Amino acid sequence: MHSVAPGYGRVASRTTFEAVRSATDRREALKELLLTARQCTRCAELAATRSSVVFGAGNADADLMFVGEAPGANEDLQGLPFVGAAGKLLETLLGEIGLSRAEVFIANVLKCRPPGNRDPRPGEIENCTPYLISQIELVAPRVICTLGNFATKLLRADPAGITRVHGQAEVRTIGSHTTRLFPIYHPAAALYTPRTMESLREDFHALPGLLGLPAPGPATAAAADAIVAAPDAAPPALAAVEPAPQQLGLF
Ligand code: URA
Repeated sequence: MHSVAPGYGRVASRTTFEAVRSATDRREALKELLLTARQCTRCAELAATRSSVVFGAGNADADLMFVGEAPGANEDLQGLPFVGAAGKLLETLLGEIGLSRAEVFIANVLKCRPPGNRDPRPGEIENCTPYLISQIELVAPRVICTLGNFATKLLRADPAGITRVHGQAEVRTIGSHTTRLFPIYHPAAALYTPRTMESLREDFHALPGLLGLPAPGPATAAAADAIVAAPDAAPPALAAVEPAPQQLGLF
C-alpha cells in the first residue's frame, strides 16, 4: 500500500473515528473539525491572506460528496464552497439528476484561497489533506466526485489526469472509509469549453446509477495498493477552540 505523500495524516486518530458511529456523533465531530480548521496556520501565506477558512458545507450524512480544488475570491469572502459561477453550474447539474445542494456535501482539497487563484502548492495540499481525509471519514459518503485534476490526483493517489480518468468509477479506501470514487471535470473548466460541458453532463447523469449501487465494502487485497493511507503516526496537535455559532449552520 502506498500513501498520497509522506506526512499526510489525520487530524484525529483512526481510533477516534472508528469509535464514532451515529450520524449525530459524526456531525458533531465534523463541527469540531471545522472549529479546528478555522484556527489553522499550517500554510503561513494562506493563513495570512485568507478572509475565511472555507471548510465545506452541506449534508453531513450525505451519500454524495464533491471535492473541488480550492476556494476562489467569492468563496473566501462568503466562507462557503462553490458560490460563484462554477457553483451555479454544479447546482444546475445536481438539479438535472434530482438532487439539491443541501443533500450533498461539498468540500475542497484546500480550505483556504491561494492568493490570486494560483494553483495549490504541493506543501499546501500536504498540509490540508488531513482535514479532507477526516471529512471523508466523518461524512462517509457512498460516492465521492472529484472535480478536476487536483482532487482526482490526490484521492486516486495517481498522476493520471482528469481527461484520461473522468467518468470511470472505482472503489477506493480513503483513510478508513471505503467509497466509490468518480472523477469528473471541474465545472469551472466546463464553463468555457462546450465539449467539456458535454462530458461533465454525461458523467453527472451516471451518478444516480452509482448512488443506487450497494455501498462498497472495505478494499480487497488487490485494491490495497490504491488506498489513500494516512500514517498511523500521532496527529499534529491542534488547538481546541470555542464553537462559533455562525459556522455551525454549515451542515
Ligand atoms: N472552485 C473550486 O474548486 N472550489 C470552490 O469552492 C470554488 C471554485
